[in-house]
Amino acid sequence: MDMLINGTAVPATDEARIKVINPATGECIDTVPRGSGTDVNAAVDAADAAFGTWSEKTTRDRGLILFRAAELVRRDHKDLARLLTQEQGKPLKESIDEVRGCANILEYYASISGQPAGEAVHLGKAGDCLVTRVPLGVCGAIIPWNMPVIIMGWKLGPALLAGNTLVLKPASTTPLTNLRIAGLLQEAGLPHGVLNVVTGPGETVGAALVKHPRVKKISFTGDCATGHRIRQMAKDHLKTLTLELGGSDPMIVMADADISKAVDGALRGRFYNAGQVCTAVKRLYLHEKIAEEFMHLLIARVESLTIGNGLLPATDMGPLNNREQLERISSLVREVAEQEEGTISTGGSPKTGSAYKDGFFYQPTLITDVAPDAALLKNEVFGPVLPVMTVPDLSAAIREANRSRYGLGASIWTRDISTIKEVYQRVNAGIVWVNRHLTIPPEVPFGGTNESGIGRENGFHALDSYTQTKTLYLGW
Ligand code: NDP
Repeated sequence: MDMLINGTAVPATDEARIKVINPATGECIDTVPRGSGTDVNAAVDAADAAFGTWSEKTTRDRGLILFRAAELVRRDHKDLARLLTQEQGKPLKESIDEVRGCANILEYYASISGQPAGEAVHLGKAGDCLVTRVPLGVCGAIIPWNMPVIIMGWKLGPALLAGNTLVLKPASTTPLTNLRIAGLLQEAGLPHGVLNVVTGPGETVGAALVKHPRVKKISFTGDCATGHRIRQMAKDHLKTLTLELGGSDPMIVMADADISKAVDGALRGRFYNAGQVCTAVKRLYLHEKIAEEFMHLLIARVESLTIGNGLLPATDMGPLNNREQLERISSLVREVAEQEEGTISTGGSPKTGSAYKDGFFYQPTLITDVAPDAALLKNEVFGPVLPVMTVPDLSAAIREANRSRYGLGASIWTRDISTIKEVYQRVNAGIVWVNRHLTIPPEVPFGGTNESGIGRENGFHALDSYTQTKTLYLGW
């Protein structure tokens, strides 16, 4: 597939291409252009030229295009999901969820197209002010490989509804479904230049987008270290930033919890998308009274997961997205064993066997007796590895949950309202779930505190973040 600039499919200026590898088989399924700074400049020029007409449309007209795009994504959801599984690795059922989720987001923003609302301020004899919300201009969106379709929706729904134009850079391992969806937006009637997609390495294409003086905002999802780099690069032009930098979400299970429901929650919370989710359960804290029973059930469930190519209907968990991730996870768990920082209860190594030999498969892994300063508690573990700790009471659970530089999500599993209140008030997180984990509806703001980033995706908060106020002062 080629890039999309000004409504036209564009190969790279120097004809170089990036191979897109199926992580289940190691096979090359397609190639995309290795774009460059020149391509970014062309895309920003196209977005800049399209801005005037697009921003002058009514939000209702823009919303109608998003509605149509949502319908087209639903129409093609099976093909899109298959493509997503082939480039990303996740089971087909998860890809279908994700593609439908993207359609839901586009539809949600279309449905609030009476917004963003302004305000009128009466100043007595001094006059009246009319405060409107206007778009920022050309925005940049940098997409990761773990949930590329839903994250594309989170960024382009509010950005386009608010009247901005966009240059989007997909992750180099998962550009195909993003390009296909960009094509559907054109089919839905999006004018040329409003959405441009430039493929290529983050270090060149991503950096050129961040540094471009005419790009007013960057919305980035990915690694914490990359987020810090982007913040440095963006500071010369005073850009607005939304940075969603991952997390190390704690899940706390108290003695009064519904254990069977909580085991389901831990399983899905950690092993969905092979653990490659920013709000995955990354640390599990069990009250000591139920820890043994819980682990007995959880180990059995983990060991019964079917690992395989995401296109096979029986697959519960696919491969990791790329070889670097497989190596990162493998070395992290090896280190736990070598440094005696925990006990591997199940899993603990890449999946072996002829069905797995060319892919990037890792076994779902549970680690107990984890040392308090182990690397897997300090860093974001982006794979199917779950450290499990036992706590004597709620205070200890909250103290341990807060021993993290991140603060994205957290969940409490209990039937007790005072426990819920205490966790909600004391745990550092942008979202606290009760008796569930992972769900992120388009209507509510999503984002974290501390090293989990700045700004919010979704809801009116994201829409506001793609606008600025402009005031008309009427001095009668
Ligand atoms: P990155 O942060 O490097 O990649 C995310 C996106 O940023 C990709 O589109 C990437 O492009 C782009 N990018 C990379 N470098 C730059 C740069 N200098 N300027 C602008 N854009 C850039 O993550 P990785 O793929 O390297 O994954 C590493 C770790 O990050 C994972 O192990 C995980 O811990 C974390 N991560 C967290 C995610 C989350 O949702 N919380 C999502 C993805 C990763 P390209 O693909 O071309 O490199």
